[in-house]
Amino acid sequence: MACFARILIDRSEGQELDYAIPEELDGKLEMGDRVVVMMRHRRALGTVLELMGHSSVPGIKPILSLIGDDVALSPLLINMARWMADYYCAPFSSVMRSFLPPMMRGEKVVSRKIRIARLLQNPSETEMLAFQKKAPKQRELLSCLQKGPGTMPVTELLRICVATDSSIKALVRSGYIAVTEEKATNSVHDDEEILSSPIPTLNPDQERIVGEIHRAIDALDSGGGVPLPFLLHGVTGSGKTEVYLRALVRILEMGRSALVLVPEISLTPQTVERFRSRCDAAGVAVLHSHLTDAERREEWLRIRRGEARIVIGARSAIFAPLAKLGLIIVDEEHENTYKQEETPRYHARDVAVMRARMEGCPIILGSATPSVESYRNARLGKYSLLELPRRADGQRMPLIRIVDLRLQGKRSKSDGGLSAPLQMGISKRLELGQQTILFLNRRGFSTSMLCQQCGHVCRCPNCSLSLTLHRADNRLACHLCGHQAKPPSICPECRDPGIQHAGIGTQKVEESVRKFFPEARIARMDADTMTKKGSYREVLGKFRARQIDILIGTQMIAKGLDFPNVTLVGIINADIGLHAPDFRAGERTFQLLTQVAGRAGRGETEGEVIVQTFSPSSPSVQYARHHDFSGFFEQEISFREAFAHPPFSRLLLIQIRGVSREKALLSAKSVAGAAAAVAPPSVKVSEVAPAPLERAYGQYRFHVTLKSVSGSQLGKLAHEVADSIRLPEGIVMTMDVDPYSLS
Ligand code: ADP
Ligand code: ZN
Repeated sequence: MACFARILIDRSEGQELDYAIPEELDGKLEMGDRVVVMMRHRRALGTVLELMGHSSVPGIKPILSLIGDDVALSPLLINMARWMADYYCAPFSSVMRSFLPPMMRGEKVVSRKIRIARLLQNPSETEMLAFQKKAPKQRELLSCLQKGPGTMPVTELLRICVATDSSIKALVRSGYIAVTEEKATNSVHDDEEILSSPIPTLNPDQERIVGEIHRAIDALDSGGGVPLPFLLHGVTGSGKTEVYLRALVRILEMGRSALVLVPEISLTPQTVERFRSRCDAAGVAVLHSHLTDAERREEWLRIRRGEARIVIGARSAIFAPLAKLGLIIVDEEHENTYKQEETPRYHARDVAVMRARMEGCPIILGSATPSVESYRNARLGKYSLLELPRRADGQRMPLIRIVDLRLQGKRSKSDGGLSAPLQMGISKRLELGQQTILFLNRRGFSTSMLCQQCGHVCRCPNCSLSLTLHRADNRLACHLCGHQAKPPSICPECRDPGIQHAGIGTQKVEESVRKFFPEARIARMDADTMTKKGSYREVLGKFRARQIDILIGTQMIAKGLDFPNVTLVGIINADIGLHAPDFRAGERTFQLLTQVAGRAGRGETEGEVIVQTFSPSSPSVQYARHHDFSGFFEQEISFREAFAHPPFSRLLLIQIRGVSREKALLSAKSVAGAAAAVAPPSVKVSEVAPAPLERAYGQYRFHVTLKSVSGSQLGKLAHEVADSIRLPEGIVMTMDVDPYSLS
């Protein structure tokens, strides 16, 4: 008999404490339930981790109460949280917080009530005329209700008519409408209309792949063991989404549920619509970062209650409380946005693979440019590889041309980033009435040293990573191993004094485009211009309607967009990402070039891509140019092996930061010392290195990197390091297992 329960307390320290189960909760408590307890004379909330027959804690206190059913987490999710806490070296309680939306974490979890306006009396034409004169807003509200089904949520009504509550109240007083409070069960997306597009007939490649996935799905009910994860490698436009949809339909027929992860950035209305139009019967919940807390809670509850059996969402949707999960899909599995850059620093794709294993269900990782890690797993036979090598509509892949910026010489300074071939390409498209996308990867640091003449970049002799220029004390540093050097005054390769750190922004590009093509209709899309909610949608809508000739943008426009009239994509500078101080720089550049190129020529006319670069012979550029993924993979994997970079090793990045540089540096040194003391021989501890972004938010930041070449558990080691060290006041230490951002 279970008389005791182990409770994980919500508060940050996240203690696990034992409590007695009181009589009234006898037999009612389960693992994953949320409860109220007393801790140090204060009420505290917590989660039931375990039920026990015995407890050796003297003077044990009772659980005070159980919080409603709807918030309980399944044992499987609790186990997943436990695994995450261990693996990523994160406090268990902080991991658990990710599993519950903010409004479900409290003691009172009442469901949202919404106010519904109902038309009671149809006003006559003369009455409407009178309203028109005296109270035009009230007239608008009435006619809005008349046009619709007669009822509408009040907030919705006010939004459409741009009216205030006082107009509603006036209409209630005069008896035209009534307002009632109702429990909200509708989805937050009910106002969007669903466009159904015809269902295409699968081509033979898709047919074969869908067949294989269906077999894995059908095996769910016959207890056929956990299938290997599928890696779906399909070129851009090859019809991967159609494969996902067929798999989802099968899952729904079986009465099961499914989870679809997409990068936040591609969670566009266009994407969501495609899923809703085919799976809406089962209820589709959408989770993304722009939901309000109340909306997030409603979506969560719909999932929890089984009202929505398909969940589409960004990173954190991997925690969705779906029951009878039958399939997980991770689209664009190579995307770095799946990695969370704050505690808990998990990678949603890796957690997804773990969840699928725990659930015993199939998982599909899809990408046109699979990550080196996943593709290697396929090569090793740990994943099952499915390939779509051709575009679905039979179109050819776009032609990619390289413009060598070194040959453009000094001229490149005066043309504002647009080389002559690119200018010619744009004006040809303008004449033909076709559209152009100009892409600039502004992410990463423009602080590597680059020779404008020969394209030489200063690299670390130990790691082969670009060295980062720290302007404050004018030195070059490798942030991974700590190697330091003096910045050269002339290029070590060609002896040109023109070596410098260069950078050009989207704003500058827009300026040049306006100068060269004053008659063109131009829009810019980046984090600076897309601050208003809905502006993303608006610009894309205009672009689709061909009211914009040239779209300039960052990452935002690289993914998932499908515009048939775009026949030219210009990449302003392929090198920015290439020289980021990161062993994944080459991989990221290859991925980005391939993805951006995939935006061209999606319609009838063949597309063209112009890539401007100082490093035309770099493998990332060359393999992307020839659409040669496996060629790229072969050379990349040998580079990783030669330098023992992941996946041939595992990394733990420890960051130590503080306002005082001296104190932070000293602490970092003692962390490195402590790590060296506890680390087994297979784990290499780096020197202390300044972070590439050495000073951020007023704090100095230093890195210590642990590299394990034998698959040792770095999470465990991280716990040991944290336990063995006491940091002085004002110094913060964070641990990042399998880091993606080394900044
Ligand atoms: P991906 O996700 O691989 O980039 P999509 O699934 O978006 O590719 O497909 C690209 C385009 O091809 C879409 O417009 C889609 O409707 C179309 N498509 C997919 N499968 C087929 C097919 N079997 N026959 C014809 N068109 C298809
Ligand atoms: Zn180095």
